Amino acid sequence: MKFADLHLHTRFSDGTFSPEELTGHARRLGFAALALTDHDSVEGCAPMAAACGAVGIEAITGTELTAEYNDTEVHLLGYFLDTQNQKLLTEIARFQSVRQDRIREMVAKLNQLKVPLEVESVFVLANCKSPGRPHVARALVQAGLVKNLDEAFARFLKKNRPAWVPKAKMSALEGVELIHQAGGLAVMAHPGLNRTDEIIPALVEAGLDGIECFHTKHSTAMSERYLEIADQFHLLVTGGSDCHGFSKGKPLIGTVKLPYEHVEKLKSKVGSRKSNAGAPVGSH
Ligand code: AMP
Ligand code: ZN
Ligand code: FE
Ligand code: FE
Repeated sequence: MKFADLHLHTRFSDGTFSPEELTGHARRLGFAALALTDHDSVEGCAPMAAACGAVGIEAITGTELTAEYNDTEVHLLGYFLDTQNQKLLTEIARFQSVRQDRIREMVAKLNQLKVPLEVESVFVLANCKSPGRPHVARALVQAGLVKNLDEAFARFLKKNRPAWVPKAKMSALEGVELIHQAGGLAVMAHPGLNRTDEIIPALVEAGLDGIECFHTKHSTAMSERYLEIADQFHLLVTGGSDCHGFSKGKPLIGTVKLPYEHVEKLKSKVGSRKSNAGAPVGSH
C-alpha cells in the first residue's frame, strides 16, 4: 500500500522542521507522496520538491490559506498550484504583510500588559515571511515570560485573550478562485476543527474540489461523517497530519496515512481541468 500526507508545515511558516528534515521523517515512515501546506506561503515547495526527489518521494505543491465566509473562519488547502503564478504570489505577499503587522500588534498588547517581549525577538525566531501566533508563543517561552506554549496561548494568544488580535482574512470565495486561477485544487481543511459544515454548500457552489476527511484531530466518527459529505457533494477526499514539527511535542507526521488512490483522483481532476482549459470555447 502507498500512503500520502497532504497537510504539513515547515519553517517557511510555523513548523519547526526544514523541508529536508520533514522529508527525512517521511522517508523513515515509508510515505510515497507529501504535500507541503505552509500558511500563506509556497516558498518551501521548491526545496521540498528537491528533498523529496532525492529520496524518491513524490512532492505535491501546496499552501494553506486562512479565509472566511460569513464570519466563519475556514482554512483552504490549495494543491498542485503553479508556485510561480503571479496573482497567487501577489496575494500571498499581501497576507504575509498582514501577518507581520499582526505580530507587531500582538507584541504591543503584550507590552501594555507589562509583558516585556521584544518584537524583534519574534521576527528573529520566526525567520520567515509568514509568522504567526506560534512564533510569539515560542518567543515568550524563550524569554522566560511563560513556562510553555500552552500557557502562552491560554493566557495571552487564544481568541479573546488579552493579546489576541483578529486577522484580516480573504473571502473563501476569493480563496477558491485564487487557487483555481493558479491551476490548483481547492480543499476545505479540517472541517471538524473549524465547524464549517454550514458553509460547505456555498463553497461547493463556488467550485470547492475537496474536503480534508482525515486529520490528526478528527475522530473516527468525524472522518466517517466527512466521507459521507464528500460523497454527497461529489468532493475529492484528502487527509494529512498537520504536522508542525516539534512545536507541540512529538511530531505528528505518521498519524495520518492517506491511501494513495486519493492522490490519483486529485491528479486526474487537475489533469482534466488542464485539458479542458486548452480546448476552444464551445467545443465538446
Ligand atoms: P495564526 O495563523 O497566527 O492565527 O496561528 C494559528 C496557528 O497557531 C495554528 O495553525 C496552530 O498551529 C497554532 N495554535 C492555535 N491555537 C493554539 C493553541 N491553543 N495552542 C497551541 N497552538 C495553537
Ligand atoms: Zn500552523
Ligand atoms: Fe489549519
Ligand atoms: Fe495546517
